[in-house]
Amino acid sequence: MTNICKVAITFVFVLFFAFFIRIPINVYGMDNSVEDVFNVLVVNSYEQGNDWEKYILEGLESTIKSENHENNINLNIEYLDIDSKNSEEYIDSVKKMLGAKYPKGKIDAIYVIYDAAYEVFAKEIVNKNSPFYHIPLVFSGVNKKVSISSEQEKHIAGIYSLNHSLNLFTLIKNLNPDVENVNVLLDSSSYCEAIKNEIDKLIKAYFEEDIRINYIKNDYMEYIIDKVEKTNNKENTVNIISGQFKSIYLNKILDPKETVDIIKKHTSEPIYTNNQIYLNAGILGAYIEKGQDLGKLAAKMLLRLEDGESIYNIKSDNSERAATYVDYNSIYKYNISPLNIGESIEVINKKPYQLLAPVWVKISIVFILFVFLFGIVENIYIYRKNKKIEENEKKISKEREKLVTEFIINLSHELRTPINIILNTSKIMEINMSKGTINNDDILDKLQNINQNSYRLLKIANNIIDLTKIEFNMLELHIENCNIVTVVEEIFISSIDIGKKKNIEMVFDTDIEEIITAIDVFQIQRVILNLLSNAIKFTNDGGLILLSISHTSEYIVIEVSDDGVGIKKEKLKYIFDNFYQVDNLLTRKSEGSGIGLSITKYIIEVHNGKIEVESEIDKGSTFRVYIPIKTIKEDEQNNKLKIIDNSKIVELEMSDI
Ligand code: ADP
Repeated sequence: MTNICKVAITFVFVLFFAFFIRIPINVYGMDNSVEDVFNVLVVNSYEQGNDWEKYILEGLESTIKSENHENNINLNIEYLDIDSKNSEEYIDSVKKMLGAKYPKGKIDAIYVIYDAAYEVFAKEIVNKNSPFYHIPLVFSGVNKKVSISSEQEKHIAGIYSLNHSLNLFTLIKNLNPDVENVNVLLDSSSYCEAIKNEIDKLIKAYFEEDIRINYIKNDYMEYIIDKVEKTNNKENTVNIISGQFKSIYLNKILDPKETVDIIKKHTSEPIYTNNQIYLNAGILGAYIEKGQDLGKLAAKMLLRLEDGESIYNIKSDNSERAATYVDYNSIYKYNISPLNIGESIEVINKKPYQLLAPVWVKISIVFILFVFLFGIVENIYIYRKNKKIEENEKKISKEREKLVTEFIINLSHELRTPINIILNTSKIMEINMSKGTINNDDILDKLQNINQNSYRLLKIANNIIDLTKIEFNMLELHIENCNIVTVVEEIFISSIDIGKKKNIEMVFDTDIEEIITAIDVFQIQRVILNLLSNAIKFTNDGGLILLSISHTSEYIVIEVSDDGVGIKKEKLKYIFDNFYQVDNLLTRKSEGSGIGLSITKYIIEVHNGKIEVESEIDKGSTFRVYIPIKTIKEDEQNNKLKIIDNSKIVELEMSDI
C-alpha cells in the first residue's frame, strides 16, 4: 500500500467517526490543537451530555481560568462512548481516529475521565507505536485501583475515587434504621457495574445478615419502574439510584429530576443516590464525590505539567473528598427524625429561615410564637381600649362639668327670680300696709304670688334633693296597688286650669276605666306632672295637649302629646340627661332647671317601665310612658307616705310655668 493510500484510508476513517458514529470530535472545533500552547487531550469515557462529566469539566475549566491560564492551556475535548461500546473493535477504531486527529507531537498531556478511557490510554502511553507514547497521563474518577507497571507509573498521576458505598449504606442505616430491602437502580455502564461489585463486597462484609439487595439493571426507565413496583409490598425498602436512564416512551435521556419524579410516582419508599446528578432532584440522602472537585484537582496537576514539572514528581491523590448530603424537604416527606442526622451531614435545600428540628419542636415553637404574638396583640388591644375608655371618660367628665356649670348658672337664675318676686311683693305689701292703702283682695293676690314662688323654690330644692338621692341610689319608693287610670286622670284634671291660663286646650282620653297596678303614686304623679308642665311650657297660646291612656296585656301606656315647639332630632337623645336643656339661658323662652326629665326617666325605670319620645320641630312632641301591669301582696305594700292633696302637688310641680 502506498503512502497516499494510507493517508486516504485514515482520512475516510476520520470522516466515518465524525458523521456516522456521531462522536462530537471536540467542543471547540474540528482540530483546535495549537502549536505554541500546552495542548491537553481530554478524553471522556461517556458520550457527550453525561451530567457527571459535565461537572468535572466545569471544575477543570473554572480552575484553569481562575489561575489565569486559559490562554496557555488548550483543551481538546473528546467524548468517546467507550463506556457503553466496550468492544475491542470499537476501542481500536477510537484509537485510530484519535491518532489521526492528534499525531505525535501535537498533544502535551492527556486527561482521562473515568475508568474506560483510563484503561485505553494507560496502555497507549507505554505503546511505542502509539502517537501518545510517553505523553503524561492524568486521570480522575477511577474507581478501582488498577495495578500499573513501573514504566506506566512514571507517566501517570491522578485522583482515585474511593469506595463510597459503605458511607452511603451507613447513612441509610442512620436514617432508616429498620431497612431490610435495598433496590439498586443501575444502567448498563461500567460505572454501574463497578458500583454493583462494590456493593456486593460491602454487603458480604457488613450487612449480609440484615439487608437484602435487589439490583435492577436496565437502560430504560419503563423496565426499572416495572421492577420497582414489584418490590412495593416489601417492608422497609429503600431505593438507591445510580444509573442514568432513558425513556422508551419519551424517546430521550431523562433528566435527573424527571427520573426521580417518575420513581416517586410509583413508590413511596425513600430514594438515595451515589450519583451527583441526582443531588438536587428530590432524593432523601446521598454520599457523593462532586465532579467539580475532581476537575479542580486534575486542573492543578495539568497546570504543574504545563509549568514544566515532570509527571513523575506528581503524586496521585487518594484522599477522601466525598461527603454525605440529606435533602431538607425529603426529611419531612419521609418522616425521618432530624435527630438522626449527624453534624457532619450537609443538609441541602434548606432555606436560611428553616429550622432542622422534629415536627413537634416546630409546632411548639410556632405555638409559643403564636401565644407570644397573641399576647402582644392582646396587650396592644387592651391598651388601645383602655385609652379609648379613658378618653371617653375624660370627654364625658368634661361634658358633665360643662352641664354642671350651666346648671349652676341656670339654678342661680331660677332661684333669684322667685326670691326677687317674693322680696318685691312683700316689700310692696309692707309699704301699702304702712300707708293703709291695701285692701283684702290685694293682700290675697300678693300672698298667692308669694305662695307660688315659694313652691317654685321648694320644687327646685326637692328636685336637687331627689337627684342627689338618685345618684346615691337612695330614692325610696312607696309601692301600693291602685287604679293608675284614676291617679293619672286626677292629676290631669288638676292641671287643666294652668293650661287654660295659657289658652291651651287640654284633652284626656282612655280606653279603660280601671287598671290596678303597683306603683308609687306620688312619684307617678310627678312624672305625669313633669310631662304636662313641659308640654304647657313649650306649647304656644291656643295649642292642644292630649293625654291618652291605653293598655296591652303587659303594659299601661300613657302618652302626653302637644303641638308645641318640638325638639330638634339631634337633641332628642340628650333630653333625659341631667341638667340638659335644649336652649341655653339666653335663647330659651321658658323657666326650668333641666332636671325634670332625668328624674322622670329614673322613676319610670325603677317601676321597670320605659319612656320614649318622638318630636318634630314646630309640629310638637309626644312622650310615651310604659308601666308594667302587676300587683303586689298586701304585706308588701309600703304606703306610709301619701300625698292626698292633688292640688298641692300640682301647685308645686307647675310652679315654674
Ligand atoms: P326643665 O326643667 O328645663 O323643663 P326637663 O328635664 O323637664 O327640664 O326638660 C329638659 C329639656 O327638654 C327642656 O329644657 C326642653 O328644652 C326640652 N323639652 C322637654 N319637654 C318638651 C316638650 N314637650 N316640647 C319641647 N321641648 C321639651
